Amino acid sequence: MAGANVDVDVGVDVVNAAAVLIEEGCMFELPEKARAIQAEVEQFFTEHVLPANSQWQKEASDGFARPPVEMALRDRAKALGLWNMALPRLTEDEPGMRLSNLEFTGVAEVLGRLEWASRVFNCHAPDVPNMELLQLFATEKQREQWLKPLLEGEMGSAFAMTEPDVASSDPANLETCIERDGEYFILNGRKWFASNAGHEHCELIIAVGVTDPEAPKSQRQSLLLVPRHAPGVDIIRNLPVFDHTSVTNMHTELTFTDVRIPVDQLLGERGAGFSIGQARLGPARLHHCMRAIGECEVLISLMVERSQARSTFGKRIDEYGATQAAISLSRIELDQCRLLVQRAAHLLDTVGNKVARKQISMIKVAVARVYQDIADRAVQIYGAKGVTSDTPAARAFNRARAFRIYDGPDEVHLQTIARLEAADQDLSHVAYYLSGE
Ligand SMILES: Cc1cc2nc3c(=O)[nH]c(=O)nc-3n(C[C@H](O)[C@H](O)[C@H](O)COP(=O)(O)OP(=O)(O)OC[C@H]3O[C@@H](n4cnc5c(N)ncnc54)[C@H](O)[C@@H]3O)c2cc1C
Repeated sequence: MAGANVDVDVGVDVVNAAAVLIEEGCMFELPEKARAIQAEVEQFFTEHVLPANSQWQKEASDGFARPPVEMALRDRAKALGLWNMALPRLTEDEPGMRLSNLEFTGVAEVLGRLEWASRVFNCHAPDVPNMELLQLFATEKQREQWLKPLLEGEMGSAFAMTEPDVASSDPANLETCIERDGEYFILNGRKWFASNAGHEHCELIIAVGVTDPEAPKSQRQSLLLVPRHAPGVDIIRNLPVFDHTSVTNMHTELTFTDVRIPVDQLLGERGAGFSIGQARLGPARLHHCMRAIGECEVLISLMVERSQARSTFGKRIDEYGATQAAISLSRIELDQCRLLVQRAAHLLDTVGNKVARKQISMIKVAVARVYQDIADRAVQIYGAKGVTSDTPAARAFNRARAFRIYDGPDEVHLQTIARLEAADQDLSHVAYYLSGE
């Protein structure tokens, strides 16, 4: 066994030990192409994005929804082809670099280190899952009108499913209604948490509504492509999330009042809204998980640095068992999550969303919980500073908490996993394990 000869005495170079394991093929690693592109993105991130963070924060707090420093970096990344990397269906005549879901995992982890980095590379939500939907279901005309400018980064988009008045984790409850009137659909309803619908860059809202109330539950809804500035679309407010409102990444409440949309702006088949929405959520969940892992890596670095820098009762904070456990558990749990996510990405690439839905639900639950736990530990190690915005820990904690709800609450995923687990089980042999029968 390769690892058996590695000297693990105190003082041994742990990095070397890991290198030996990699060399001898004992450690899982991404394919060569994925590692090469990750290295390229990492270099751009380290040289250009990270040093611009304080300027970006200042511009965002000065009210720029699209901070100029971000826009300049977008031009640069696009010129290098580091663009649209989260879209495995990108065709050769579309701008950017096509990566598989697995190849994108390492890139997304780098982008997750800063909340705004994904936007520099046009790899951010909700535009990526919306582009993916358009790639899969849009007509030629819809592609020209909406997909093309999204791929070029010339506009933003939103997805409006959730409604304040009904429990929206069950889409069968949705009440927004889409009625046909000649060559138009008339849209009426109230939505909230439509991320970025109120952003100044947003031109398209993909709205979910009921077209066929008498049909079976999963065939009642359809998706409509709604211009953000169509008459009858009213932005009500930018919702405070944990008491925080952001101009760069907003969560919007809005109403649709008698919005008239030509019938050729229906996305996909009438009544297929439920299954189309599911197609959007597989890769979207994966990308959120991969970014969260990148953010957790930053939090672990911060925990190590901070606990080495301060002392109490005559000892450095990193010398206490409680701190060591916090850091060690974070490392164990995060590496477990990364492996789960890589496997789910591989399954998405090889067998698709539908077959991989148990693994997608598994990563959604596992990563959101670990993200929250790691953010919580980082807040604790920072003490009072941890609850301020002077470190990324408090925002990470809030984001992690919200992640346990958006893209499906934990409980709904646990229900899915349990159902699929029961279906996957071969129970024919269990009697042999039961004594006395
Ligand atoms: C930051 C953020 C961004 C978001 N972005 C978007 C967006 O861009 N577009 C969009 O349409 N929506 C978005 N959402 C909304 C999100 O998808 C919904 O909040 C989510 O689907 C849950 O719906 P709900 O809030 O109506 O909760 P409800 O459906 O009312 O559920 C509330 C709680 O009930 C419990 N529950 C529900 N079902 C079960 C079950 N089967 N078993 C046990 N317990 C259960 C869970 O604890 C759940 O959290 C966002 C939300 C947040 C927080």
